[in-house]
Amino acid sequence: MQENIIPHQFNVTQEQRNKLKKHGSFLLWFTGLSGSGKSTIANAVENALHLKGIHTYTLDGDNVRKGLNNNLSFSPKDRTENIRRITEVANLMIDAGLVVLAAFVSPYKKDREMIRKRVKDVNFVEIFVNTSVEECEQRDVKGLYKKARKGLIKDFTGVNAPYEVPENPDIQIDTIQVSVSEAVEIILEKLNPKLVIN
Ligand code: ADP
Repeated sequence: MQENIIPHQFNVTQEQRNKLKKHGSFLLWFTGLSGSGKSTIANAVENALHLKGIHTYTLDGDNVRKGLNNNLSFSPKDRTENIRRITEVANLMIDAGLVVLAAFVSPYKKDREMIRKRVKDVNFVEIFVNTSVEECEQRDVKGLYKKARKGLIKDFTGVNAPYEVPENPDIQIDTIQVSVSEAVEIILEKLNPKLVIN
């Protein structure tokens, strides 16, 4: 069936959309354990970008799993499909000229490598929100660690499912040492050159 799908060449290009918006578009991918601070930091970064007049959109684990991916479980196969669909959506949004923020546990290295390859290296900024499982468990924002320890959630990352630590992230935030506003500063500084277009 795929061989009969021939993409139409539309006239308006990503470059033209970027020119109209006056900034580059790319994907900020936040990875880390549940409760590590991905959504909190992504939210603060989006706020700061919005104030600067940058067009953004945030894809978050809970909002995507309630809609587009509501038929997927947390099995390794479904986690990979979850990330694949999010990557395709993010790719369309990059093409549309947006700075996309994505906050997903994304525990597998091979999945994160797939994202980088699919959206292209220049469009991918991997941000490792590095918070220990002990700290996340102490925060237990959503009470999920407690449930997982009681055996009420299977495949819970950090408790009974693995998290593969990024070896070479573009940015790493240690949330014990770094406050939310400091994290925003670190991230924005790294992004500034990517926002500039010729
Ligand atoms: P995740 O999206 O990774 O599941 P959340 O952002 O929902 O995590 O929750 C992280 C929790 O940790 C929030 O309650 C937040 O206020 C708290 N927190 C404490 N210190 C920090 C920090 N330096 N950076 C980010 N979050 C922090």
